[in-house]
Amino acid sequence: MSKLTRLTVLGSTGSIGKSTLDVVARHPDRYRIVALTAQQQDELLFEQCQRFRPRFAVLLDEAASERLRIRIAAAGLEVEVLCGAAALERVATLPEVDAVMAAIVGAAGMPPTLAAAHAGKKILLANKETLVLAGHLFMEAVHHSGSALLPIDSEHNAIFQALPRNYAGDMKQGGVSKILLTASGGPFRNTPLEELRNVTPEQACAHPNWSMGRKISVDSASMMNKGLEVIEAHWLFNAPADAIQVVVHPQSVIHSMVQYVDGSVLAQLGNPDMRTPIAYALAYPERIDAGVAPLDLFAVAKLDFVAPDFQRFPCLSLAYHALRAGGTTPALLNAANEVAVAAFLDRRIAFLDIPRLIEVVLGKVARKEVNELQDVLDADAAARIAAQEWVAR
Ligand code: NAD
Ligand code: MG
Repeated sequence: MSKLTRLTVLGSTGSIGKSTLDVVARHPDRYRIVALTAQQQDELLFEQCQRFRPRFAVLLDEAASERLRIRIAAAGLEVEVLCGAAALERVATLPEVDAVMAAIVGAAGMPPTLAAAHAGKKILLANKETLVLAGHLFMEAVHHSGSALLPIDSEHNAIFQALPRNYAGDMKQGGVSKILLTASGGPFRNTPLEELRNVTPEQACAHPNWSMGRKISVDSASMMNKGLEVIEAHWLFNAPADAIQVVVHPQSVIHSMVQYVDGSVLAQLGNPDMRTPIAYALAYPERIDAGVAPLDLFAVAKLDFVAPDFQRFPCLSLAYHALRAGGTTPALLNAANEVAVAAFLDRRIAFLDIPRLIEVVLGKVARKEVNELQDVLDADAAARIAAQEWVAR
């Protein structure tokens, strides 16, 4: 019998957060929830508190936390309600916590995830923005504190599974020649280019294979999600940009592959359901039931692969550019993209304005070296101001 893992779930009300709790609920003997957090969804967080009885519940929003406090008291639950960004870091670093699911969306997820790394927690990393913004600082913290780092992003989880056990970030030593990062191509893979001009947030969020939060759904439609994942793969596996190849695979059955120098290619397959990578990371190196239906290969019948179209998806080129430029450029790219996606979801800019806005910001805000966290935070803030100006122009 393996020992109990005590868990903090950052972003428990989101798509990844809910899938995490679904897996946890299947294994009450293995996992105990210490803390749950959300931005402002106090009703759902209350339901989760009733079900999982955490010690702490954190809301970013003050009014929402007040509402939650009242409901918790009325229900007689022994849950301490905290509020604000500092509380996220607190519950990510509590001595009684073994593992942290980092599932907040966007740059806001970076500080508590970095704090968990400094505290040596096992980190289940869904928040790819942490690596895009502060990959070097985060990986350094992980190595320094001895944290175990398990990728949740389905592609990176697949790569992790296909790499040699105990891969230590040395492709040559591992006999690895390439990381093959698969991409569905999103809802607009075959949409005529002139129609892309007028696509709506609803169309962009209607992903053909995956059900996800709205931000990452738009990123999948622009393929910025894949661009951010290229940067994520660079930091996780110490792979140079040239060794990371995006492969469009519309069925989303192969979640990514590793190519070896002897000609072997190892792939991880499964139904597109995030509970598989979540369960893998939770139980690693063991395997547990995730509630996911077995893959029916006869129903899948065929697997297609095509090269990515960089003309159609300029966000992908912008992300490769940012990775190669290094320094604060990936942080600028990410911040500009977050502002652009929010503005698109608010119908303030068009879908094709997303890469335009990012280019403007990268041209306007100067790249700097990253020596400390403040450099990243400054770049993030400067890019947001420049991006907001463009949206409001
Ligand atoms: P989501 O929008 O469904 O949920 C986000 C969660 O973060 C919610 O609990 C929300 O309350 C919280 N949150 C949002 N803004 C916050 C803020 N400023 N401060 C504190 N908490 C905040 O997002 P999601 O789709 O679950 O994605 C979460 C992360 O996982 C993202 O980084 C995404 O890129 C990554 N990811 C998601 C999927 C997926 O299938 N959804 C797959 C791979 C990676
Ligand atoms: Mg992914």
